Amino acid sequence: MLKEVVVTEINPTPTIEDYLGVMYTLDRDGESIIGAKLSELLEVSAPTVTVTLKRMIRDKWITMDQKKEIHLTKKGVTAAASIIRRHMLTEWMLSRILDVPWSQVHEEAHKIEHSISTDVAEKMQARLDDPKLCPHGNPFPGFEKMTQTWLPLVDLEQGDHFIIRRIHEFGEEDGQLMSFLQNNGIQPAQEGCIKEKLPFNETLTLQISDAAVSLGFKTARLIFIEKVG
Ligand SMILES: [Zn+2]
Ligand SMILES: [Zn+2]
Repeated sequence: MLKEVVVTEINPTPTIEDYLGVMYTLDRDGESIIGAKLSELLEVSAPTVTVTLKRMIRDKWITMDQKKEIHLTKKGVTAAASIIRRHMLTEWMLSRILDVPWSQVHEEAHKIEHSISTDVAEKMQARLDDPKLCPHGNPFPGFEKMTQTWLPLVDLEQGDHFIIRRIHEFGEEDGQLMSFLQNNGIQPAQEGCIKEKLPFNETLTLQISDAAVSLGFKTARLIFIEKVG
């Protein structure tokens, strides 16, 4: 008689790591984790998401409740935090050691992060002086409190002064947006003020150094600032 063979993944595959990372970020932001959001954020079809979620439930990375909302298991949280940490350390390595432009480090790190071992990640962490935020200002797992007082840029009014602190992870995903932000000096530590806010048009015009830069509200929701003055 054949014995039943139970296959369980010990380490998540790169695909599973991508799902875990997005799930962790949604959960951190207090958003519900549902298939439709994963399909949009990971740019994969709904049927593909369904198949992957089934595998993830089988391998105990997640559970799904009656409302079809997804919850990370303890094992899932640990694996998600690990891939996010490796991603952020890789971003710093690329930017500080290899001088890869700020707007490109996310995309480049995404290709490398899955193959970094725990040992190498620890060495990177020490060499990079224990960073608590990624080069875009997003918190390493466990350091979420550091970003809590920063406001979305879209909440400011005309005349408000600010220091840019953070571009949300879901903004990092958009290469064109990242190049635009870098070209216009919209990066952490940059100061600026709101020159004009047009709610009917859903646009904000920022004064950054000597230049005026217009942004849509959608983009301004992904940029977090510290108010000054
Ligand atoms: Zn990133
Ligand atoms: Zn980043």
